Amino acid sequence: MKRHDIAIIGSGPAGLSAAINAKIRNKDLIIFGNNDFSAKLIKAPKINNYLGFNEISGIELKENFQNHINSMGISIINERINNVYAMGDYFALMVNEKMYEAKTVILATGIEYTRPFKGEEQFLGKGVGYCATCDAPLYKGKVVTIIGYNKEAEEEANYVSELASKLYYIPMYTSDYKLNPSIEIIKDRPVEVIGEDKVTKLILSETEIETDGIFVLRDSISPGQLVPGLTIEDNHIKVDRLMKTNINGCFAAGDCIGKPYQYIKAAGEGLIAALGATSYLDSKSRETLK
Ligand SMILES: Cc1cc2nc3c(=O)[nH]c(=O)nc-3n(C[C@H](O)[C@H](O)[C@H](O)COP(=O)(O)OP(=O)(O)OC[C@H]3O[C@@H](n4cnc5c(N)ncnc54)[C@H](O)[C@@H]3O)c2cc1C
Repeated sequence: MKRHDIAIIGSGPAGLSAAINAKIRNKDLIIFGNNDFSAKLIKAPKINNYLGFNEISGIELKENFQNHINSMGISIINERINNVYAMGDYFALMVNEKMYEAKTVILATGIEYTRPFKGEEQFLGKGVGYCATCDAPLYKGKVVTIIGYNKEAEEEANYVSELASKLYYIPMYTSDYKLNPSIEIIKDRPVEVIGEDKVTKLILSETEIETDGIFVLRDSISPGQLVPGLTIEDNHIKVDRLMKTNINGCFAAGDCIGKPYQYIKAAGEGLIAALGATSYLDSKSRETLK
């Protein structure tokens, strides 16, 4: 299996800036994210604080980012990383059953503005999960509920509906939903996950549903869930001034390391993280030459 120099998780300004700087330093990089780059980028109506781009819309800034990475031959792998394991000399990045390997990792996953639902964390691993396709076989013939925050969640719902006896889909966005006809869409606000040793019910503001499993598919999962062993402080990844986390070879940048939540801060930190990863790689290769 190919072992990349740098794996970047997240395609917002932090991840993209890390990618171009890793490329400039001639490192072999792989970047995971999505075609829109970042939901937060395309939603911004007017941006006045990104130096050099006054009064630009998020969509226009996105197009500039796209042209920039295209011109450098960088393309984004449209996949969601479920877990990152530090294996000592390298990192294993899991996408369902698929695995990627990299010598260093840059976490640029952004931050979720929404808080977990009541009971969500308590029942994590006991009926609550963040990757429906990974755990789908456990729910064969059972009732599953998916709370989806973006269109990617629809694909997961369609897949799980082929195994589950019943699938409820609760969209947290408005769109045309491309869902299998067997899926029941519930337009209501989830409030609380209920159960004893396992999930039994989801309480919504107007109704409640009996369910064996609940998947919450947000734009990003919490970094502590993504990378076991990562130090988190005040809901953010703890880094030093060089964007180093507590795990050797693992760096972080952007909203996921703390406020203020701004594009240019994210891009600056992406640059520092890429330089950090580069010097880490260079010092490792000097060690092996000794
Ligand atoms: C409506 C709105 C307007 C804003 N206006 C401004 C403004 O005018 N000026 C300003 O400076 N800031 C503004 N912001 C804030 C700005 O959007 C954020 O600070 C910035 O996007 C953070 O960049 P980031 O790269 O850290 O994360 P994000 O932009 O959030 O990007 C992270 C990306 O990583 C992806 N990702 C997460 N986890 C995984 C995974 N496991 N695998 C693969 N991909 C993953 C996410 O889906 C996302 O696409 C605005 C935000 C909003 C919502």
